[in-house]
Amino acid sequence: MKIDILTIFPEFFQGPFEHGILSKARQAGLVRIEIRDLRAFTHDRHRTVDDRPFGGGEGMVLKPEPIFECIESLNVASLSERASAQESVVLLSAQGQRFSQAVAGELARLEHMILICGRYEGVDERVGEHLADREISIGDYVLSGGELGAAIIVDAVTRLLPGAVGNENSTRQESFSSATGLMQNGSMSTCSSGGLLDYPHYTRPADFRGMVVPEVLFSGNHEEIRRWRRRTALEKTLRNRPDLLNVATLSEEDKKLLAQIKGKDI
Ligand code: SAM
Repeated sequence: MKIDILTIFPEFFQGPFEHGILSKARQAGLVRIEIRDLRAFTHDRHRTVDDRPFGGGEGMVLKPEPIFECIESLNVASLSERASAQESVVLLSAQGQRFSQAVAGELARLEHMILICGRYEGVDERVGEHLADREISIGDYVLSGGELGAAIIVDAVTRLLPGAVGNENSTRQESFSSATGLMQNGSMSTCSSGGLLDYPHYTRPADFRGMVVPEVLFSGNHEEIRRWRRRTALEKTLRNRPDLLNVATLSEEDKKLLAQIKGKDI
């Protein structure tokens, strides 16, 4: 996959893509990330990328010309042909569609993703209307710029590319993952999240300052471990993100476990 990031602060990206899975995915050629300095697409002495808003009001707005010219230099397909070209031009915006694991999964199927980072009061609306094919928000809060959001999208998308994570089953079992079913070796996943939060994980030491790892994890009984993991995933989801339970894929066993957790019998 090729990723282009358009920004007025290219130095921002020195670092975020140089560690762990992202660094390995780049080295393995699974993803190529290019940072595009929008000031390189200006034509005045001051390399101006922003201007005052029409109609008055606070702050400055990113001008459309450098953004359009930068995208044109990348030979991106026209809006009508973009989906079939497996390309997407994404505008980072607090007003966009909320980013989620499902959206990350969609983006991971692209050949080419272009991320436009706004700054100041935002980006001239014509970019969102006539150039980008989607606007994405990484959450209901306002950041100073789109760069952090772009880094988050690149991270979440890259780890879903085939080969990026050593054991692909691990991304299928994580929080929010909707996948359920067979592991590669044919056995059932211990706990595909099915849209829930992940279950708790423990490692050595078994007793750390009197905080002990749940006994069941030493039992060697795979069925008991699977049930415990599902139950704790349900508990955590109910406690921290009850909204997910309305859309998660719940089996009959899940419904019973949930009823027990809530102290009811069904
Ligand atoms: N005036 C805008 C508003 O109220 O929605 C906020 C502009 S913000 C200060 C500047 C830039 O940061 C935006 O153009 C966008 O690129 C980025 N940004 C801010 N919050 C974001 C969010 N939640 N998700 C993605 N990008 C965000």
